Amino acid sequence: MVIMLLLLFIVGTFFGSFYACIANRLSKNESIIKPGSHCENCNHRLTWYELIPVFSFIIQGGKCRKCKIKLSYEYLVTEVVTGILFAFSFYIYEFSYQTLIMIILSSLMVTVFISDFKYLIILDEVLIPSIILSIVVLYFIGGFELILSSLIRGVVLFIVLLIIKLLGDKVFKQESLGWGDVKLSFLAGLLLGFKLGLVYLFLGALIALPYGIISKHFKKEALMPFGPFLMISLYVIYTIPSWFNMILQVLIGV
Ligand SMILES: [Zn+2]
Repeated sequence: MVIMLLLLFIVGTFFGSFYACIANRLSKNESIIKPGSHCENCNHRLTWYELIPVFSFIIQGGKCRKCKIKLSYEYLVTEVVTGILFAFSFYIYEFSYQTLIMIILSSLMVTVFISDFKYLIILDEVLIPSIILSIVVLYFIGGFELILSSLIRGVVLFIVLLIIKLLGDKVFKQESLGWGDVKLSFLAGLLLGFKLGLVYLFLGALIALPYGIISKHFKKEALMPFGPFLMISLYVIYTIPSWFNMILQVLIGV
């Protein structure tokens, strides 16, 4: 168990490094292949050992080896968080298909955090592969029957969000929900079903509320990212179904 957790953590840090790269570059419409990884300040090309997640940051003392500028903590944090999420997935579900779904959700969550907070974008390039991979895993869990029923639930939640968006846009006379949030909710419906899908919306809005109030107060910006909060909500609800069902049973006797 410990060895698997450690292994998944290390694999996760590499994926995290990659996710930070694609979230930043694709959001800015840059190529993810060229140029190779480099220092943003002096363009120093990173050698192989400067590309090792976490480790390279530590041996370089958090500075570029050439120009000594301080490296951003964003990559380090992304790598560590992704590593922890990967290991956590295995810790909860061990060798099972749920672990794969959790790894997909972790990956999506990490990239949505970067792209939506920094650029107010949920990237199709990340979202669509996540949806496709989830459908593949669903096939292994319950065959075409499960895929079909899941797709229907996904479409239903998608339509609910679409209606909220269109009404919201009209009422507030500006973009209320981003298209990314609507598309993301298709995945939520796919994985959670309709009832939990509604809980997902509610929980997402609830988590977003304090952030919304604080950011309105300080930044006075009209647009705020909603994707990260929806993502946390999706992740939490998917992660603790047994815990969640228990509460629902007590509350409304579902
Ligand atoms: Zn440099």
